[in-house]
Amino acid sequence: MSDTPRYVPTAKEQAFLDTVVDSKYERHSINGLAPFLNERVPEGVKVMYTKAELEKLAALKGTERDVEHRMPVKTTQHYFDLSLHSQPIRNLVKATPEETENLEGAADPGYQMDYSPVEGLLHKYEMGLMYVISTCSAHCRFCYREELISRKEIERQDGTVAKKGLAQIPEIVNYIHSHNKAVEENGGVHPKSGREKLREILLSGGDPMVLSNSKIAAWLGALAEAGIESIRIGTKELAFFPKRFDQNFLTMLDNWHAAYPDVGLRLMIHFNHPDEFLMKDDAGNYIEQGSGILKWHPDTQRAMEGLTARGWMSIENQSPIIKNVNNDPDALRVMQRALKRVGVNNHYFFCGRDIIAHRAFNVPIEEAWRILNESQKGLSGVETHARLSITHYKGKTEVCAVTSQPIPGVPGTENGVVIFKILRNAASAPDRGKVCIVARNPEAIWFDGYKDRVIYDEAGLFAYARVDKAKDAAAAAQAPAK
Ligand code: SF4
Repeated sequence: MSDTPRYVPTAKEQAFLDTVVDSKYERHSINGLAPFLNERVPEGVKVMYTKAELEKLAALKGTERDVEHRMPVKTTQHYFDLSLHSQPIRNLVKATPEETENLEGAADPGYQMDYSPVEGLLHKYEMGLMYVISTCSAHCRFCYREELISRKEIERQDGTVAKKGLAQIPEIVNYIHSHNKAVEENGGVHPKSGREKLREILLSGGDPMVLSNSKIAAWLGALAEAGIESIRIGTKELAFFPKRFDQNFLTMLDNWHAAYPDVGLRLMIHFNHPDEFLMKDDAGNYIEQGSGILKWHPDTQRAMEGLTARGWMSIENQSPIIKNVNNDPDALRVMQRALKRVGVNNHYFFCGRDIIAHRAFNVPIEEAWRILNESQKGLSGVETHARLSITHYKGKTEVCAVTSQPIPGVPGTENGVVIFKILRNAASAPDRGKVCIVARNPEAIWFDGYKDRVIYDEAGLFAYARVDKAKDAAAAAQAPAK
């Protein structure tokens, strides 16, 4: 039980909260495999699985290869309708026995809990990520938060084992105040952790857009009052249920912006494939409407127009590159171009994380780089801002280049090299920009595939003593909050 005092909104905050109107949404979600196994889904939806596929999945129930134990099955009617015209979309939400064939992977990818000074908050860089909910409108099979969504128990650094908890406003606000006060009193860096001011917070989960407008507003108001400079909302709801971005939601954002005009808002959206928002003709081609504009799904277009009309907010797309979903340069080219055309920035593409069973979803690192590089050929500079990132335990790392010729005089480079660069350190920022060069291994899907091929490593990607450094940082970060 927390002994943090109850959070009381300020008068300005309460005035904003009093304007919020909640909508009632009907996503017509299909939850779990049971409705398919028991034939309780509408006739049209039955095509999602064949009888033979259901028999195979049913046979795994209760075994360690149970696909629903790894990641709960869920889709919306909207996403199902899209999947009728797109195999990649169907693959994104459809469970298969193959996904639990190899259960190799990390229970807590990236050792996230090393950076959790308060339940539900990960404090990395100058930024905090909060788990505010543990579900989404639909569930991606490749989800790298599968441990949160399937409510698995995770071992913490202190050896305790528990499910990941959700962030609560009083504890988070308390932590922000105490961290930022210590930073301010120490000339701009925290005396123990060395971190700067906590100035950005990402609302994540799960998908915060599953919460009501009132709950989202409560977070936006509390974080703005706590001195956070920029707030991010991470969401895939534009793909799963675009009607969620209705007038009540947009008005709530407008009222929040009117109350806190100096606080930035970034919507971090998650489209994996253009089939999630573009319409196709009967031949399966995207429909051109003149001047290169492709026809959007009307619900998604309405939502996107409402968001992009608010120029004070930025919209950034980020997506992992996933086997059988979007490992397709042509699809990614269409997506990057179509998004930039309506004012969405292409932020990151990711190599999949080393989650449990990642081998079913991850594309080899060098292949992911090739796919993204191919997809960006023929696009303009502003359409190709996205970088390929892979999250090392040490921080966010860019896959900058993959070469195919030997470097003269450098042994081990006969087949070319891969160049990684640290974009952001998880703990503090001294290693930003440092590189690591390894000899190629086209099979590698994680850093460990290169551990015997390191040529040059100023970034320290292969000499990182996780436990000691992370423990120090986490302990130091916790100290002022007590
Ligand atoms: S939307 Fe994101 S958090 Fe939700 S299931 Fe998909 S990958 Fe996971």
